[in-house]
Amino acid sequence: MHTRANTVTPYKTTCSYCGVGCGIIVRKDSKGRLQVEGDPEHPVNRGVLCSKGRNLHYVVEDKSDRLLYPEMRWNRHMPLQRVSWEQALERTAAVFKALMKKYGPDSVGFYVSGQCLTEEYYLVNKLTKGFLGTNNIDTNSRLCMSSAVAGYKKALGDDIVPGSYDDIEKAGCFLIAGANPAWCHPILFRRIEQHKEQNPEVKLIVVDPRKTQTCALADIHLQIRPGTDIILYHAMARYLIEQDWVDWKFIARHTEGFESLKQVAFERDLDEAARRCEVPVEQIKEAARYIGEANGFLSMWAMGVNQSVVGVNKNLALLNLSLITGQIGKPGAGPFSLTGQPNAMGGREVGGMASLLAAHLNPANPEHRQKVADFWGVKSLSTTSGLTATEMFEALAEGKMKAIWIICTNPMVSLPNSNLVEKALQKARFVVVQDISKKADTLAYADVVLPAAGWGEKEGTMTNSERRISYLSKFTEAPGEARPDVEILWDFARKMDFEGFDYQSPAEVFNEHCRLTQGTKIDISGLGYERLQRERSIQWPVPDKKHPGTPRLFTDHRFYTGNERARIFGVPSENASETTTPDFPLVLITGRIRDQWHTMTRTGKVSRLNQHISQPFVEIHPEDAHERGLKNGQVVEVYNSRGRVRVTVKITGTIKRGVVFLPMHWGKVLNKSFARANNLTSNRVDPVSKEPDFKYSTVQVLPYQKP
Ligand code: SF4
Repeated sequence: MHTRANTVTPYKTTCSYCGVGCGIIVRKDSKGRLQVEGDPEHPVNRGVLCSKGRNLHYVVEDKSDRLLYPEMRWNRHMPLQRVSWEQALERTAAVFKALMKKYGPDSVGFYVSGQCLTEEYYLVNKLTKGFLGTNNIDTNSRLCMSSAVAGYKKALGDDIVPGSYDDIEKAGCFLIAGANPAWCHPILFRRIEQHKEQNPEVKLIVVDPRKTQTCALADIHLQIRPGTDIILYHAMARYLIEQDWVDWKFIARHTEGFESLKQVAFERDLDEAARRCEVPVEQIKEAARYIGEANGFLSMWAMGVNQSVVGVNKNLALLNLSLITGQIGKPGAGPFSLTGQPNAMGGREVGGMASLLAAHLNPANPEHRQKVADFWGVKSLSTTSGLTATEMFEALAEGKMKAIWIICTNPMVSLPNSNLVEKALQKARFVVVQDISKKADTLAYADVVLPAAGWGEKEGTMTNSERRISYLSKFTEAPGEARPDVEILWDFARKMDFEGFDYQSPAEVFNEHCRLTQGTKIDISGLGYERLQRERSIQWPVPDKKHPGTPRLFTDHRFYTGNERARIFGVPSENASETTTPDFPLVLITGRIRDQWHTMTRTGKVSRLNQHISQPFVEIHPEDAHERGLKNGQVVEVYNSRGRVRVTVKITGTIKRGVVFLPMHWGKVLNKSFARANNLTSNRVDPVSKEPDFKYSTVQVLPYQKP
C-alpha cells in the first residue's frame, strides 16, 4: 500500500493555482513521496486548502505528461526531433536575430503567463523591452485583470488594491460581482462564510447572471442581464445619494468628478434601471441600503466585471460606490479585485505587460523610460506601443509579426476566437513554446519546444491579490532535461550577446527588481530575497529594511493622482458587445468550474479532481431548452458564425433566461476540439484595457444531428 509515513523534510511554499496565495507545507519522505498540507501559520489560509491545493502533490509526482528535453523542427512538415539545449537556444537566437534584422524588433514578441514567477516575468520584460528593443511582451493576465488595472489607475492614480484579506473579518457588507469565490477563490470564501456565520448582521450582495454556489450565502442576489452592470451601479449610486447615505465630507475633501456621476446616475429612474437589469427595483434599493448603512463596505469582483468590451467602465462604476461612501483606506472597506492567477499582480510589478514598465512606471513617460533604461544599462527604450495579447495574434495572422515565444500558457485553448489563433500560429514564421506539459494544445504549432521546470522544481516569488509577496521553495528535481524558466531566459539573452544577464540565481534577479522599485509607489527596496525567505511573505510597499510591510494603503486619503484626490467617473452605461439576432439569440458566458484550472494541463491529470465534473457541458434555462426541444443530458451544438461546440446540455433554473454558460477549461475531448468554448468567443476587446469580451458572445443552441 502507498503510505505517506516517515515524512521527514518539511518545505514551506505557496500554492501555484489561484490569486488567493495560500501557504503550503510540503513533506517529503525518504523515497521522495510528497504530502501537502495547509500551513497553519500562513496569514492567508491558516492551515486550510481547497481541493486543487490539497492535490498539488499528484501533479508534481505524475511526470507521465512532462516535456523532458528540447525539441525542434526545421519546417512544419517535419516532426519535432530531440535536440540539445545548446542547439535549441542557438537556433532560437539565430532566428530572432535574422527576423529582427530583416523586419525590425517589432516583428518578434513574447506571450507569457500570470503563472510565471516574478523573476521570470522580470527577466522576460528586461530582455524584450530593454534589449530586443520592442514592447511586444504581453501576458494572459491581459485576459483577466487588465480592466481592473486600468480602473484603479484612472480612479486611484495607480494599479493598487488598497486593502488586505484581513479586511474580510472587519467588513459589514460585501458586494461580490462577476465572481464565484465559493468555487474559484474557495479559501477566501470560507473566511467570508465564517465571518458571516459569527456575525449574522453582516450582509452579502451577489451580482451575477447565474445563481452560483456563492449565492447560497447571499442576502440579495441581483441576477442581472449580462451587460447591464453599469446601469445597476449607477442606480445604486443614485439611491445612495437620494437617501443621503453618501459621505459628503469625503467626497468634498478627497475626490473629484462627483457631479459627472450624479449626471449619469440621475438620467434614468430606478424603475427603468431595474427593468433594464431585469431585477426587482426593491432589490436594488435594499442592496444600496446595505452598502449605505454598512460599517465597512468591501466590494470584490473578478472576470464577470473585467472580461468585457466595457470592462474599464464597469470597474469605474463599481469603484464609484466605494468612493461616494468614503469606504476606502479604513478597516473592512475598499474595492478589492480578485486576481485569478497566482502571480498576475507580481507580473504587473515588474511591468510584464505591453502597456506597463517595471516598478509601475509609465512607458509613455520619457523620464520613466530613461530611469529604467539607465538601470538596465541600455541607451533607451522603444517608444512604439507594444501589442497586447489579442493584438499579437492578429498581427501574426496578418503577417505583420513573424515570431512568438509562448511561456507557460496555452493560447490555442485560452485566447478568444480559436480560429484566428490557429491561423496566427500557422502563419507565424517561428513559434517557440516553453512549457511543462506535452498536453498543451499549442505545441502542435511549435518550431522549438523548451521543457520547463514546474511548481516545486524551481524557486522564486509570487504576489497574491492583497499585494502579499510570497516565497516558493524548490523541493524536488525537474524531470529529464527540464530547466527553470529563469535559466532558459538568461541563457537565451547570453546567446543574443546581451550584457546584464550574468545571473547565477533567482535571488539575484529578485534583488535587482527590489532595487529598481526604490522611490516608486511599490517600493520594496527594503525587502530582498533573503529576508523574504526568512519571513515567507510580506505585503508591499516595504521601503526600508525595518519596514513591516503595508496591509492597507490610502489611510490618509491621499491618492496617487496628481492632486491626491480619487477620481469619480460618470461613465456611459451602455454595453458595446455584439447584439443578439434571430439567428443567434442567446448570450454565451464562459467561466470556471470548481476543480479545474485553466486548460487542465495540471488539474486534468488528477483523477480526484476529474470526479467533480468529468465532462464539458452547456447550461441553459428550462424555458430556452423547452423552446428548442432539448432534454437534459442530450448532446447539443452551440454555434455562431465563428465556430461550434458539441457538448451535453444541462437544463437549470440557476441561469438567467436567454443566457447560456460553457466552462472554459476543455480543449480537446477524444482528440477533437469540439468542447473548446473559445471556438465561439469574439476577439472584441475593451478599447482601454484591451481585455476580451469573454462574457458576451451571441450563439444558438440546437440538438446535435449526426451527419
Ligand atoms: Fe490554491 Fe487558491 Fe485553493 Fe488557496 S484557494 S489552495 S491558492 S487554489
